[in-house]
Amino acid sequence: MKLIDQWQRQLNYLRVSITDRCNLRCIYCRTGPAFQKLNHTDILSYEEILRIINAAISLGIKKVRITGGEPLVRKGVFSFLKELSQFTELEDISFTSNGVLLERHIHDIIDARIHRINISLDTLNAKKYQTITGINKWHHVWNGLIAAYEKGIRPIKLNVVAMNGINDDEWLALAGLTRQYPFWVRFIELMPVGHSDLYAKHWVSANIIKKNIETHLGQLIPVQRTSHDGPADRFQLEGCPGEIGFIHAISHHFCKTCNRMRLTANGHLRACLLSDQTIDIRTPIRKGCSDSEIHYWLKTAARLKPMSHINQKTVTDQMVGIGG
Ligand code: SAM
Repeated sequence: MKLIDQWQRQLNYLRVSITDRCNLRCIYCRTGPAFQKLNHTDILSYEEILRIINAAISLGIKKVRITGGEPLVRKGVFSFLKELSQFTELEDISFTSNGVLLERHIHDIIDARIHRINISLDTLNAKKYQTITGINKWHHVWNGLIAAYEKGIRPIKLNVVAMNGINDDEWLALAGLTRQYPFWVRFIELMPVGHSDLYAKHWVSANIIKKNIETHLGQLIPVQRTSHDGPADRFQLEGCPGEIGFIHAISHHFCKTCNRMRLTANGHLRACLLSDQTIDIRTPIRKGCSDSEIHYWLKTAARLKPMSHINQKTVTDQMVGIGG
């Protein structure tokens, strides 16, 4: 039994948001009208999440990424990660964090046997960081990155949301980090999520960044893709330990090969980030449904996956609620 959508794509990657709470207020993530936090009772318990993951594994899910909101702010996250790492069928477990609490919890992360992390960092300038995120914590993130590097966590992926007129003056410096550190710096195209005119004003194609880097830093040598690669096109500058990636979320759709399903913190399955169609799996679980019913809902959600988000304008839900 596999999770196959209407277009014969096999879904083997589940992205799980464990909380809608976040300790930052990023301009592209919490946009527009005030964000309505979920009630605690509406958020899936760890037990419920593990049950869904277990069912998803029997339908061929091989890769799980934990996200949020900010996953490190949820109580009990490290015990949860430890339990998750017991699922030996999973070939890849990782989490995405803003890194603010990374240094403080580096030992917990290692203890939970998580070896792959994605950290969001859009700027190397502490003042600009505050403008983008609303909070003065750039040094916390940087110290966390260095702690993760020194503890041997690999790969450390740095997610940079590319925004023309906001961090365009730093793309070269961010890419240049790969000369010194084995970081994988990935430039992500801004996505039209939530109500915001940010997208109209600051969107830029990842190709422009790539050209810029090639002009100023040297040739980008393609890196061979592996089966667990996400949608990033991966490159290296000659002789450098790190990698530079481009995620063309908007300009080149990677929908054709999209293998993802999302589980939101309130227990909704969402087969496409840029589609508002979801399936509520929390209600049947709380009514005591069987595992085969969970399989049924997972398959139903997979069938809702659109072939492409090509006609999608703006998703009304905010990224902090969906789990990027
Ligand atoms: N709090 C964690 C973090 O900061 O990485 C995890 C959640 S965050 C929603 C996950 C990722 O989504 C981050 O890398 C963030 O930069 C990205 N993201 C959020 N809103 C976005 C948008 N409108 N376009 C592109 N990426 C976005």
